[in-house]
Amino acid sequence: MTTRTVEQHAQHVAELLAPLHTRPGEEIPLGEALGRALAADVHSPVDLPLFRNSQMDGYAVDAASITTVPVMLPVRGVIAAGPAEPVTHLPGTAYRIMTGAPVPPGADAIVPVEDTVTSDGEVRIEKTRSAGEFVRERGSDVRAGTLLLAAGSLLAARHIAVLAAVGLQRVSVRPRPRVAVITTGAELVDAGSALRPGQIYDSNGIALASSARANGAEVVSIARSTDDPAEFRTLLAEAVLTADVVLTSGGVSMGDFEVVKETLSPLGAQFAHVAMQPGGPQGTAVVNGVPVLNFPGNPVSTLVSFEIFARPDIRRAAGLPPTEAVEGPLAAPLTSVRGKRQFLRARRTDTGVELVAGPGSHLVAAMAWADVLVDVPADVTALDAGQLVKVIPL
Ligand code: AMP
Ligand code: MG
Repeated sequence: MTTRTVEQHAQHVAELLAPLHTRPGEEIPLGEALGRALAADVHSPVDLPLFRNSQMDGYAVDAASITTVPVMLPVRGVIAAGPAEPVTHLPGTAYRIMTGAPVPPGADAIVPVEDTVTSDGEVRIEKTRSAGEFVRERGSDVRAGTLLLAAGSLLAARHIAVLAAVGLQRVSVRPRPRVAVITTGAELVDAGSALRPGQIYDSNGIALASSARANGAEVVSIARSTDDPAEFRTLLAEAVLTADVVLTSGGVSMGDFEVVKETLSPLGAQFAHVAMQPGGPQGTAVVNGVPVLNFPGNPVSTLVSFEIFARPDIRRAAGLPPTEAVEGPLAAPLTSVRGKRQFLRARRTDTGVELVAGPGSHLVAAMAWADVLVDVPADVTALDAGQLVKVIPL
């Protein structure tokens, strides 16, 4: 079997997944756009504010008529927020006006209600105001035709707010990569089934699906195959009909019933031993033009394989930013196998980066307690407490 470094295999996977990055944007309703990445720049179709309106509940006046205070002005009516026939201001008079209501042409300032006394059709104004005060000019927030949000923006509530404010109902976002998951293993059953001797619950199916979703993918199917090649072949043929990428777990090692390897090898798949722990045995194939990534079945291996090989391109395809590795000091010394890059499960604590368990790739509970992977280079065999290590957030 070929041997590869993590970098070489990651590069190979990146080439297979490259077509994910050029899929066109998809138009979706604004109400479903939270967390998605804009596929294209959005220019405002309108001015915001849409029209000149009042920032206060108060009185619309012309500033020139209230230069000496106190002053009494006749009140010509009330302008509420909402649709109404437009009215025009006459100098030396006032309209009672509500926040958000159109300021009548000719009026240029709003006197807040707190600074007035109303009596019998007139208002007494206690304080002068300069032109423009408490008037929200049309287009003072954004002008029609100007850039509202740039391509790539990750849509949070505030972005969705402005898209709604300019009246957009739909928005073009990066398409979610469609991921299909197939787990393999004669020993696997669904949670809820009674376990017969030798059986275990299938955790990789839901784990890979959750990993994919957490990184912006849409999971189109989760299937499980026994170690019968015919069954796996059928499930794979179905998966590639709807998926942009298929993730499989199990069946790629050196045992007697390696269903993924047996099925895909004749179809030109590449199986390699990657110099890493966990996750050494890795495979890739292209079936009906759809890339298929074959991860080993140990639950920790599967999750780590996803993080190292699938996550970067799935995130990028969905328009999500890469997960940046950071550095942290080791809480305790560690040793590592020469020649293999280790991804050790660890937790960030006040005393530093603390390993949560030994190297066993079946330690799925310990994986759950981890919040980072410590990335120990292949040529490093020992590290001291306090030494800075690269950690990959989970
Ligand atoms: P394999 O890669 O198929 O040789 O499986 C390696 C180990 O991972 C074995 O102990 C399997 O029982 C276990 N395993 C494989 N697939 C799953 C799965 N979907 N869920 C939980 N454990 C699994
Ligand atoms: Mg198996």
